[in-house]
Amino acid sequence: MPQNFIDLHIVDFCQLNCKHCYLNKGNSVMPLDMIRAICTDFLQTAFPLPQSTIILSGGDPLLHPNFVKACNIVRKLNGHVTMSTNGILIPKYVHTFQKNDGIQVSVDGDREAHDFIRGEGSYEKAARALKLLDEHKIRHSIAFTINQMNKHCVDHIIDLCVETGASTLNCNIYQPIKDNALPSIAFKGWIKIREYVSKRAEKEGIYLPSSCIEKGCIAGILGLSALPDGTYWDCSRNQKIIGKYPQKIEKVLYWDNINNEKPRNQFETCCRKSKI
Ligand code: SF4
Repeated sequence: MPQNFIDLHIVDFCQLNCKHCYLNKGNSVMPLDMIRAICTDFLQTAFPLPQSTIILSGGDPLLHPNFVKACNIVRKLNGHVTMSTNGILIPKYVHTFQKNDGIQVSVDGDREAHDFIRGEGSYEKAARALKLLDEHKIRHSIAFTINQMNKHCVDHIIDLCVETGASTLNCNIYQPIKDNALPSIAFKGWIKIREYVSKRAEKEGIYLPSSCIEKGCIAGILGLSALPDGTYWDCSRNQKIIGKYPQKIEKVLYWDNINNEKPRNQFETCCRKSKI
């Protein structure tokens, strides 16, 4: 079910140096009182949908020096924790999570493609994280970002979902918003791949959430992103600065779009450099 969202970049650093990373890395950490205040404000804001999700992201959120406390704050406010990670530190933190949390591990192909994009040995760690989450019965999913170098790996990713009990597959297109020297695929090619993924996922009982990129951009409408220094972006992919903490979130949203139930044009936001 679609939900209002906030992508909370609690750190802006990571152990890897992925070819498709869209973040300018630094050494910033979001303080715990800012995490608490932004989450509280987000949950009190009159977004359009009844359910809201707080996504801990980064960099890699597990590198936050007070990760367990950050988790506790989010759990206390919203009942569960949702997180996006490269999986490397899951063995250290697996006992922090609960069954109704949602841990998304990024896997960008088979071992060869993933290690080419994310660095030698990183596939093994991501796969181990998924297996560990499965063993501990913690709800988990895979995020697969498709580019020219991994578009042949769709079946491998679906097989990995089955093998590791990942109930959801987020199948994204790589958007060349920075010059990362990674060849992207065209939008229409991605739609074709998604049709194939959708059929196989249905057969295997894997949930494939529909994508904002197909349906119309919801950046700054259903949600936003917050960086460790409190900067608000409309979305982590589009990166338009719309305000800064402690500004109230309701002051920075696109209210014309919200009131008229009108999405933004994705080819003017994150897909502005994508080939059609
Ligand atoms: S900027 Fe892109 S990823 Fe973000 S909400 Fe819009 S369409 Fe979706």
